[in-house]
Amino acid sequence: MAARRAGQCALGSRRSHDGPDQLNGLTHIDEAGWALLAAAPIFGSFLGVVIRRLPEGRPLAWGRSHCERCGTALRVRDLVPFASWLAARGRCRHCGMPVGWFYPAVEAAALVLAAISVALDLGGAAWLDFGFGAVLLALAWIDAEHGILPDALTLPLIPAGLLAALPFAREELADRVVGVVCGYLGLKLLAWTYRRWRGREGLGGGDAKLLAAAGAWVGSSGLPSVLFGGAIAALLTALALAIAGREMRRDTALPFGPFLALAAWCVWLFGPAVWVGP
Ligand SMILES: [Zn+2]
Repeated sequence: MAARRAGQCALGSRRSHDGPDQLNGLTHIDEAGWALLAAAPIFGSFLGVVIRRLPEGRPLAWGRSHCERCGTALRVRDLVPFASWLAARGRCRHCGMPVGWFYPAVEAAALVLAAISVALDLGGAAWLDFGFGAVLLALAWIDAEHGILPDALTLPLIPAGLLAALPFAREELADRVVGVVCGYLGLKLLAWTYRRWRGREGLGGGDAKLLAAAGAWVGSSGLPSVLFGGAIAALLTALALAIAGREMRRDTALPFGPFLALAAWCVWLFGPAVWVGP
């Protein structure tokens, strides 16, 4: 476990030994951790805006400003995560239109990401875990709903991942640059093979950019785990959908982005899967 971060880097040293003692747990939260937990629903609220507006090309501005239906300007008290939604029982206070579970769901998801980050890391490292996870969450959500992975989210992850190596794991920088190139070319090769084999597109260009971004964070050594982890998660999901009665044909499109994103965050947090021989 945690081979990528084992011992040699500050970020991974706490997790270089297997066993439950490697986790901070939620009993040893430092100030940075409490700040992250408090801020997470607010970041989640903004993520909701990104997920809703980015695929439609609408300006992000800062936060929601108007009711989507009646246009009533939202005030600060309408934008408090969870509380506003509960107080108005999930409806616009003016026109009564149900605002749905979308925003509280994204806010809750952001809080879960923050809790996992804080349980695994301290200080700036927990914020880094959360930041990577939050962008992946937005990408996964947009890909699941729209079948696209916007460049505006995938491409900034590449310099961000390389820069994140500087304070915590400078010696990994070269491997992460190799990871970007291998991630992009590897998925392009996979897409080309698939096209030759099945005669249609199976993987989009966005997937290649997402795998390149993953390479900037987990390095070339983590990429196989991201790819295989994502593929296994996708297969299990397809199987579960089929068992649940959803018609799964050979050409049913299941976006790959959410599974790549999930696998990328797991490999970032726990290191690549290591085959433990007998
Ligand atoms: Zn309204």
